[in-house]
Amino acid sequence: MNKRIYLDYAATTPVDSKVFQAMKPYFMEKYGNPMSVHGFGQESLEAMDKARTQVAEFLNCSPSEVIFTSGATESNNLVVKGVIRSYYSKFPTNYKSGTNIQITNKKFVIPHIITTRFEHHCVLDACKRMENDKLAEITYLTVSKDGVIRVEDVKKAIRPNTILISMMYVNNEIGTVQPIAEIGKLIKKYYPRLIFHTDATQGANYFDCDVNNLGVDLLSMSAHKIYGPKGIGMLYVKTNTPIRRVQDGGDQEYKMRSGTHNVPGIVGLGKAVSMISEQRPKNKEILKLRDYLIKRVLDEVSHSHLNGSKAKRSPNNANFRFDDVEGEGLVLSLDMEGIAASTGSACSSGALEPSHVLLSLGLKPEQAHGSLRLTLGKYTTKKDVDTAIGKLKEIIKRLRKISGGVMKEFN
Ligand code: PMP
Repeated sequence: MNKRIYLDYAATTPVDSKVFQAMKPYFMEKYGNPMSVHGFGQESLEAMDKARTQVAEFLNCSPSEVIFTSGATESNNLVVKGVIRSYYSKFPTNYKSGTNIQITNKKFVIPHIITTRFEHHCVLDACKRMENDKLAEITYLTVSKDGVIRVEDVKKAIRPNTILISMMYVNNEIGTVQPIAEIGKLIKKYYPRLIFHTDATQGANYFDCDVNNLGVDLLSMSAHKIYGPKGIGMLYVKTNTPIRRVQDGGDQEYKMRSGTHNVPGIVGLGKAVSMISEQRPKNKEILKLRDYLIKRVLDEVSHSHLNGSKAKRSPNNANFRFDDVEGEGLVLSLDMEGIAASTGSACSSGALEPSHVLLSLGLKPEQAHGSLRLTLGKYTTKKDVDTAIGKLKEIIKRLRKISGGVMKEFN
């Protein structure tokens, strides 16, 4: 079989060899629990402190504002549920959600969260849970057909009871970049009591994550999207942000996240983050290659479309729609040729429901089924892209013939 080609870097990235080397000693040699007082423990604690500093430098925050978690799913759950928990903790006893009852001198008002329709499921489902449990009201903003949040819409959605705004930095399916810094500025200037969170999981490799520039109080990241290991991530929590832990147990992570630390993972996250700035020149090459890919596909495959804005887009993302072709069929056929791609997000591929992200752009369900996401990374070569385009053209031709759709011609 020919060399396999990986074009699914938004689903996960390989671990960089330097990251792996940094992690290695923390499995079999330096395996102490960083909460232990003995030498083994202190060795791990030192490594963890170093990683915390590396992450803090990247975000331009204090190390004490970095909370290690098991990944962005956990970070995002902690945001939504932890902010709500903190809000309710201010009402001493028997609050009753959905009602306006007077408790001591505070009037209970159900809290309100603003998010968007095209967030990752871990944000959306956490919000839905809060809504179903009648603990919060949620506004799910629509986005422009280009896949970009309109700042005006955010402003209009703010109510007196809004406590949290959660918006992703870069969309995982269509790669569109959101005006987080602009929204951050608006909030800090006019609504300073609001808590602003961004899920920067897909943005960290390519965009400024200085939390002061972004104006965020909370920011989530995951190591496995930045050439680090799976199962480790972090949440930036600005000092004095009202948020409570949701996982009980030990008092690790400034009492915000209980559970024995994943030391090798934390070391890997720190190393991966510290390497992001070195990789920035490489990103220009990724962008060039991505533009080449988009141009060739749109020029050479009839009835093909790019989902999401071309300009406001992560340098590594191409997401296409092909009339009369099912995305699932495409992904399976590409896989048989040794090419890894995806239709929508990895977490939802396998499910036959149309992508909620594509639907949020106003596409019809049948259009949302016909999408293909190709995401590049630092190991992608022009040869990989050329091979993938060649195979893609053949496959689409074949699938269109089988489906007998209206798009018979193919150039
Ligand atoms: N948010 C976004 C935008 C993502 O792309 C992902 C991963 N698909 C997650 C959250 C979840 O991250 P993790 O795999 O670290 O739980």
